[in-house]
Amino acid sequence: GELKPEDFDILSRLGEGAAGTVRQVLHRPSGIVMAKKSITADPDTAIQRQILRELAFLRACVSPYIVSFYGAFLDEEDTTIAICMEYCEAGSLEDIYKKCKELGAVIGEGVLGKLAIAVSIISLIPTNLENMGIGWGLSRHHYYPVLKGLVYLHQQKKIHRDIKPSNILMTRSGEIKLCDFGVSGELINSLAQTFTGTKYYMAPERIQGAPYAVQSDIWSLGLTIIEVAQNRPALPPPGYSQLAIFELLDFIVHQPIEELPDDRSAELRDFVRVCLTKDPAKRPGPAMMLNHAFIQKWENTNVDLGKFVRQLYDWPE
Ligand code: ATP
Ligand code: MG
Repeated sequence: GELKPEDFDILSRLGEGAAGTVRQVLHRPSGIVMAKKSITADPDTAIQRQILRELAFLRACVSPYIVSFYGAFLDEEDTTIAICMEYCEAGSLEDIYKKCKELGAVIGEGVLGKLAIAVSIISLIPTNLENMGIGWGLSRHHYYPVLKGLVYLHQQKKIHRDIKPSNILMTRSGEIKLCDFGVSGELINSLAQTFTGTKYYMAPERIQGAPYAVQSDIWSLGLTIIEVAQNRPALPPPGYSQLAIFELLDFIVHQPIEELPDDRSAELRDFVRVCLTKDPAKRPGPAMMLNHAFIQKWENTNVDLGKFVRQLYDWPE
């Protein structure tokens, strides 16, 4: 059924971003614990309706690698737009690496491998899925049907991924899922009017005004892996923390991004290096990245991500 504001109890606050607040909530009629993201709404009711209509496209985004969407509605006396989604108990990869840092631990390559696989598969969306089954291992072929809805969205130019550690979530059982897909142009417009965040994860070509393309997601994946591997963001670069926004964007376009240190495997270091190719024409897309030696190494290796999150948060077996 339809989600209504009065059907929710707030359980806790999960986090805060540039766009709004995320809370853990109970949807009483269904008994489902959800994550509710509240974004300040434009006062114009026509714009509000348009945003809600566009957000409904998220229903088509069904995949084991995407956070499920339950619904969106006007909330708090029509002052906010609430987006209800699957609650991911282990939090975002940003939460996870910060916790690791606290514990003095580093994230292993098996976890990074599974992360790279999940993001690359989701980034495949705009490519021709008819060809996806050919020459693929069963594990990837398996995702063909569920990605169909996303192909549709992309063809409609209605999808925009925002790949970064805070938008990659983990469930209690250790599944890796992307969230915060930009499917509403109207919402993006209305956020742009208030948004002041720094676009650290944006690929050089996007900074220079090129339209969104799959290769841009691979760049963001490279920055995400460096950050999660080292428990700190790759940008601003170490020693450059005082860069003004213009200087930072100039750095991204012209200066080499740091490499991972040599206590990491040659495959991982090369994977990240390839992701961070400046020229989008020379940077491989997700299909090619899925054939990289680093992915090949982890694709057929079991990594117990459930155990990883249990140990991290000290949850019982
Ligand atoms: P930005 O606003 O720049 O995109 P952000 O991604 O951190 O930054 P939000 O999307 O508002 O901002 O998310 C804030 C935090 O809420 C996340 O970092 C994460 O810890 C938590 N969070 C978001 N969605 C969920 C979810 N579905 N389940 C559990 N925790 C979540
Ligand atoms: Mg987010």
